Amino acid sequence: MSSTNHQLLSPIEAIVGEAGILTGKALAGRSAGIWSGRQLKALALVRPRTTAEVSAVMKLCHAVGQAVVPAGGMTGLAGGHKSTASDIVMSSERMNRIETMDARSRTMVVGAGVILQTVHDRAAEDGLMFALDLGARASCTIGGNIATNAGGVRVLRYGMMREQVLGLEAVLADGTVVSSMFDVLKNNTGYDLRQMFLGSEGTLGIVTRAVLRLHEAPLAIETALLAVPSWDKVMELLRYFDAALPGALAAFEVMWRDHYELNTGPHSAVDAPLEPSTPYYILMDMFISDHEQGRAKLEALLTTALEQGEIADGALANSETERARFWQIRENFEPEQNCYDLIYGYDVSLPLEAMEDYVESVRTNLSQGFSDAALMAYGHIGDGNLHFSIYPGAARDREAVDELVYYPLQALRGSVSAEHGIGLEKKAYLGYTRSAAEIELMRKTKRMMDPGNILNPGKLFDI
Ligand SMILES: Cc1cc2nc3c(=O)[nH]c(=O)nc-3n(C[C@H](O)[C@H](O)[C@H](O)COP(=O)(O)OP(=O)(O)OC[C@H]3O[C@@H](n4cnc5c(N)ncnc54)[C@H](O)[C@@H]3O)c2cc1C
Repeated sequence: MSSTNHQLLSPIEAIVGEAGILTGKALAGRSAGIWSGRQLKALALVRPRTTAEVSAVMKLCHAVGQAVVPAGGMTGLAGGHKSTASDIVMSSERMNRIETMDARSRTMVVGAGVILQTVHDRAAEDGLMFALDLGARASCTIGGNIATNAGGVRVLRYGMMREQVLGLEAVLADGTVVSSMFDVLKNNTGYDLRQMFLGSEGTLGIVTRAVLRLHEAPLAIETALLAVPSWDKVMELLRYFDAALPGALAAFEVMWRDHYELNTGPHSAVDAPLEPSTPYYILMDMFISDHEQGRAKLEALLTTALEQGEIADGALANSETERARFWQIRENFEPEQNCYDLIYGYDVSLPLEAMEDYVESVRTNLSQGFSDAALMAYGHIGDGNLHFSIYPGAARDREAVDELVYYPLQALRGSVSAEHGIGLEKKAYLGYTRSAAEIELMRKTKRMMDPGNILNPGKLFDI
């Protein structure tokens, strides 16, 4: 590490104050991420409070070519927030203020470091809802959600993070502030610069503030768990419920039997509401406007589906506690962690018609290559998003398992990342989903916006 870069620390401290920069021993208690178990590596952890402070720090870093890794809640699952001992980690943790909440225009202006759950809670106070929702809601930040264009469990009805952001403010590598803090839905005034930062994984700018779009909160939520005898019936049920209650389907999650069995078995705190005897389990949320009528209609739909053999069994949650219990079966990863000392996580998307064969061929190839491996499948299947948790067996050959999962997606026109991003972990496979011309255009964009390659260098692709 050059002494020049060490000499940056005092001027940075002059900008952000003593509490705004942690170095050396002060970093000892800081973790490198939610599941990493390792200590954060950094030349310094910088914690600015305002866009102006971020801009001033970036100007200094730009002048000497200092690498900067933007960080939010560090819950990312693609390694995008990973840093080395010579990086400055720019944390949004002190930009954590809700600036305004406007219930009439259904917008909220927030700092990039505001936690997703905090946004949910504030919107709920006014009978509103922020549509992005995901398992890491208690730790992930709005800036991280923007940088990864996060997805989650409500994409089917409301779209990804891209759809939830009306405006944002970002600081470029050279310290330039780009403020697009619009709060209107329609704005056709040239290139949509705000979208440049959504999904850019901290490589094009540091997001500092955002205008979020809110929706009316549902008057009632009905949650059903269904045991389904075949993949064809999973696909039929998606249309059946969506057509019978138009616009009400807000989550359509599918768990393959191995995930359901593990998460309701002896390693889990949740007992199985339905016998683990069918190959698929659907977990479904319906947002309805009339509790009595909506529930009666849903009960009638379930009865018909049962009589026609579309489902083998079904249960409707009778209370908030039961709803939470059903969702725990989908979202809880403790049973995996209790059973296996290592899990590789995957997040892909592909057409629903191809999904059953794809999962079975990955499972077969995995067991042929590694007899002691295990695969759990689940995902936001309503929007074609499949997750695998794979125990790789004693061989622990990450590259070989990655190939088994990613290679077949090329022929299926699937994506190696549905929602978690590319980061470091999927860099080698970007070309399986994006063409050479697309990747070159991304590189040109990066070179134009960050000529010194100081913002999250080495993430997404190499320059
Ligand atoms: C249990 C669990 C469940 C999850 N479920 C989902 C899910 O359903 N859907 C989904 O999409 N993701 C999911 N994730 C992944 C993760 O929560 C999301 O990617 C989230 O958006 C990351 O936010 P963060 O604040 O933790 O970002 P970080 O992990 O800190 O960073 C992620 C990336 O964004 C960049 N970044 C962070 N803040 C900024 C900023 N202010 N400006 C510019 N760049 C920035 C980082 O450099 C990095 O590249 C899950 C994670 C866990 C642990």
